[in-house]
Amino acid sequence: MLHLILFGPPGAGKGTQAAFLSEQYQLIHLSTGDVFRYHMKEGTELGQLARSYADKGELVPDEVTVRMLREEVEKRNDAKGFIFDGFPRTVAQAVALDAFLAERNESVSALVAMEVPEEELKERLIKRAESSGRVDDADPEIIANRLRVYREETAPVQTHYERLGRYRGIDGVGSISEITQRLVEAVDQIK
Ligand code: AMP
Repeated sequence: MLHLILFGPPGAGKGTQAAFLSEQYQLIHLSTGDVFRYHMKEGTELGQLARSYADKGELVPDEVTVRMLREEVEKRNDAKGFIFDGFPRTVAQAVALDAFLAERNESVSALVAMEVPEEELKERLIKRAESSGRVDDADPEIIANRLRVYREETAPVQTHYERLGRYRGIDGVGSISEITQRLVEAVDQIK
């Protein structure tokens, strides 16, 4: 089984690229942000809880996020593997994911990081707000908070997989197709 973590800061283009990669490698694209947004739209209890964090650019607590992710993975027994997009966002989530996959005699194949400078991310997010309608994309203060949370809580996830020898980094600046190409080259080395 191929389990990829598509990693990078908010605005790096993870969602766009995960869609291409899931098709190319026949993997299930699992975006925790998308699942939370679905619940917000449906007005479920989980959605209301998630909104109270997401609208401020904060992370939903690990316990809630990990439980939701487990349930989503368990729904897909037919999967050949997963592309995790927006997860894990903390080292605790990474440790929980490793343990969960180990119970199934599986493991994370690689964390592939898309590297994009902060200035470019801010511009991309503001632009994305025009089409996404996402509250958390529109406000410069919320964007700054998301980038701070990324630096402080999420970036250490990269170090976690670097220590396990599972880290691959690619330049995340360029056209969508150039970046897809770089990702495919990186993934083909893993397989
Ligand atoms: P995203 O679409 O990945 O930027 O996620 C949107 C929002 O959902 C984030 O700002 C968080 O509030 C929440 N979220 C998504 N994934 C996670 C996660 N793995 N851990 C905690 N919160 C998350």
